[in-house]
Amino acid sequence: MKSKGYLHPITHTINDINAYFTDRGFDTVDGPELETEHYNFDALNIPKDHPARDMWDTFWIQPKTAGKLLRTHTSPVQVRYMEKHKPPIRIIVPGKTYRYEATDATHEAQFYQVEGLVVDKSISLAHLKGTLDDFFGYFFAKGVHVRFRPSYFPFTEPSVEVDVSCFRCDGEKGCPICKGTGWIEIMGAGMVHPKVLEGVGISSKDWSGFAFGGGIDRLTMLKYRIDDIRLFYNGDARLPIQF
Ligand SMILES: [Zn+2]
Repeated sequence: MKSKGYLHPITHTINDINAYFTDRGFDTVDGPELETEHYNFDALNIPKDHPARDMWDTFWIQPKTAGKLLRTHTSPVQVRYMEKHKPPIRIIVPGKTYRYEATDATHEAQFYQVEGLVVDKSISLAHLKGTLDDFFGYFFAKGVHVRFRPSYFPFTEPSVEVDVSCFRCDGEKGCPICKGTGWIEIMGAGMVHPKVLEGVGISSKDWSGFAFGGGIDRLTMLKYRIDDIRLFYNGDARLPIQF
């Protein structure tokens, strides 16, 4: 019997995200994985010696003084895109990211993120909430609710942690997936910081925007009930056959 190829579950998730957002007028954008300190940090309102840099454990390319690194998030692509395009802007950026940290069931040194960015007239948190409400309903194929909790990221103001109501127990009884809380932590988001907009020459008086960023691996693990992130990367061909 001829063996047949299968798509990796991470690829399924990226395809789902692309299909949803493309239908709604977003462009899918790519950017370099080998980044500069400028795009990964400074242009996102994270200057040198700012304690917020500790939020991202970074793989630096030696010598560190050259300012090259493996991007710790997909957010630098926001800056690269806004430098070349005037608003209105609607993009998503799925791609690989890197963190210098130990590997365990929920952490990998290389993983996938998706970034979303909208810049237009009078964009508010309500647009962000409506977008994520609808997207997660599509992704989990179930009506879910989105909840915001106050948070901090240097490149958004205000910043929020995004939770979705548990798609397994409907947020009522609590279950192992939501650890009994009825809610699942899913991504970070917020309104694009005026300094980030001004830094690329977009007037923060005339334009506003929202951005969100979340782990594609985590979304995939939740949707397909995979409990160890390392299964995605160990090359075991028995994984993709199941999806
Ligand atoms: Zn639950």
